[in-house]
Amino acid sequence: MSVFLDQEIKFLPGVGPKRAETLNKELKLFTFRDLLYYYPYKYIDRTRFYKIAEIHAQMPYIQVRGIIRGLETVGSGPKERLSARLYDNSGSLELIWFRGIKWQKENLKLDTEYIVFGKPVEFGGKISVVHPEMEIEQEKTLLPSGLFQGYYNTTENMKKKFLNSKAINKLLLTLLDLVRGKINETLPAYLVEKMKLMPLEEALTNIHKPENTLELRKATFRLKFEELFFIQLKILALKHNREQKFKGFRFEKVGYNFNTFFSDFLPFELTGAQKKVIKEIRRDLNRNIQMNRLLQGDVGSGKTLVALMTMLIAMDNGFQSCLMAPTEILAQQHYQSISRFLNGMNINVGLLTGSTKVSDRKEIHEALQNGGMQIIVGTHALIEDTVTFDKLGLVVIDEQHRFGVAQRAKLWQKNDLIPPHILVMTATPIPRTLAMTVYGDLDVSVIDELPPGRKPIHTLHFYENRRKQVYNFMHQQIEKGTQVYVVYPLISESEKMDLKDLEKGFRHLSEVFPDYRISMVHGKMKPGEKDAAMQKFKAGETQIMVATTVIEVGVDVPNAAVMVIESAERFGLSQLHQLRGRVGRGAEQSYCILMSSYKLGNESRKRLETMVRTNDGFEIAEVDMKLRGPGDLEGTQQSGMGFDLKIANLAKDSEILQLARNTANDILDDDPYLQKEQNQILLQNLLSSKETGFDWSSIS
Ligand code: ADP
Ligand code: MG
Repeated sequence: MSVFLDQEIKFLPGVGPKRAETLNKELKLFTFRDLLYYYPYKYIDRTRFYKIAEIHAQMPYIQVRGIIRGLETVGSGPKERLSARLYDNSGSLELIWFRGIKWQKENLKLDTEYIVFGKPVEFGGKISVVHPEMEIEQEKTLLPSGLFQGYYNTTENMKKKFLNSKAINKLLLTLLDLVRGKINETLPAYLVEKMKLMPLEEALTNIHKPENTLELRKATFRLKFEELFFIQLKILALKHNREQKFKGFRFEKVGYNFNTFFSDFLPFELTGAQKKVIKEIRRDLNRNIQMNRLLQGDVGSGKTLVALMTMLIAMDNGFQSCLMAPTEILAQQHYQSISRFLNGMNINVGLLTGSTKVSDRKEIHEALQNGGMQIIVGTHALIEDTVTFDKLGLVVIDEQHRFGVAQRAKLWQKNDLIPPHILVMTATPIPRTLAMTVYGDLDVSVIDELPPGRKPIHTLHFYENRRKQVYNFMHQQIEKGTQVYVVYPLISESEKMDLKDLEKGFRHLSEVFPDYRISMVHGKMKPGEKDAAMQKFKAGETQIMVATTVIEVGVDVPNAAVMVIESAERFGLSQLHQLRGRVGRGAEQSYCILMSSYKLGNESRKRLETMVRTNDGFEIAEVDMKLRGPGDLEGTQQSGMGFDLKIANLAKDSEILQLARNTANDILDDDPYLQKEQNQILLQNLLSSKETGFDWSSIS
């Protein structure tokens, strides 16, 4: 059967070489199979016929049976149109054509029963249908009667060549006739039975021409489940495989360092969420399996502390740890806060970045190699081959999406025998469903609670007309001793213009606030200049920081309590949220002011409203995913995990996804290498799939 479905699409009756070329080019449909899996994006219920008297303009479409009595051409020039009156026993309706008038006039039959389908519109109090689909009741050919009709996405180029949705529908009906009895099941029989899934052939038939809503629902469920199930099976097979292959160090002890820190040095209570996550991590570390855990939590939720306590466990078991940050300034910040936390304990913490002096560097290298240094914080400099460890047991990576998979892998190799445990921290919360897919091979922990006493950031949205008040407010706040960020968009396509905006903004603010000092940072500056400007602001030497999104990541200036975001409508939602996380770090009430133009599209309006409504990163991530679709969210592109989902939707199908993941997990628990007879069908599927770029053949 696979051979049959692999035939080139040009061989399908009704296609031919020309249309095949269009289908190849426009929809990437090359084979029978491709077409079969090209699903409708919506359905129209053509099982139902309305009485003309029931029809109103709010209906999305109508289908009626009626007879044409009058037919006349009205108007002239571009307003010329053909008007027909359609009657049933409840009333009458006008049908209108602006194009193909001559053809219609010659072919429309009076006093013959038609099935008429189209969108009702109201004009001057009267209902009409423009360019209806028409068919003589006696000659029904096109529409299989009594069906839901699928609507397919097509492109402008296709429509020009008469390959519209209806034409695709017709091709599919032809194809479905041809493949009847030739489609093999892709899921094991026991699974189909246990889960009461619709068999594949029936599901594919029903997805294109459902008999009724119940069948459509069953078909949709089956196909969504299958799609998500195979993705999860791949990811989890990979994870199981890695766990089998790579043993992990067993950190059995929670000893002196952890306990001393916890009882004598920790300056506050851990939040419930921090405790929960530390427990999850401890369980991981005590298993003989390499930990691969993703720690998600909003900015300021206390991830660094969790990382530190994990490092203390490593130390209690005789291992070194490293913490890798994406920028120099972040590495410094981590180094300082960790050193502060550990002040008074006898622990050697180092900092290694690109700008570490050669002599210091040598010393650090030695201490890492002979075990004299237990914790090292740094940037990419840590990856260099010259850095070797005595016993590296734990790698913490901050801000996941800035590091590629390959870079992570390089750190693993720093311990030849057994790879270190990995803890990845990210402050870009992503929805649970997405995490299960993008980071599906990692275990995920979530800190969903901020330390007590934080004042939620007030977020306000203003238009240009309030600019003066915003400046007054900035003035007031600075007089109170706080500092202010002013952020400008920098979007790569128009980088030059944006940079001009930024510089213009800088000059403008210098005029508005002649008494204040202003720093500026943007991505086009040299790293050294950038850091220097940042440090100045951090040290309080300047009151206002004009910046692009380069300040997005992790920079901590507790005294900055106000952020003004210019042209806020141009930022993505999660980016706005990330930016906002730069304020609200100190004791003062903080504010985020979103400035936008009056002209706002629906989506931008929704983004700004969401920002004003909530501070919760996970809620924001959910909205973001619904607005943009999962494929566009940060960090998903490089994941390589099938995001061209054909039917499932990560924003809507979280339950099916969970079910698919649990099912895949159960199967792999029972049969890790898919060697049982009943699972051969699954193994074949994994081995034949290449699109994720993983080498599945290494699994068995
Ligand atoms: P994240 O890395 O998640 O952005 P941090 O670890 O930098 O957050 O923590 C932000 C601030 O909150 C730090 O100053 C930290 O010391 C403090 N903090 C962390 N946990 C707690 C807690 N349980 N109670 C009070 N303050 C905390
Ligand atoms: Mg942090």
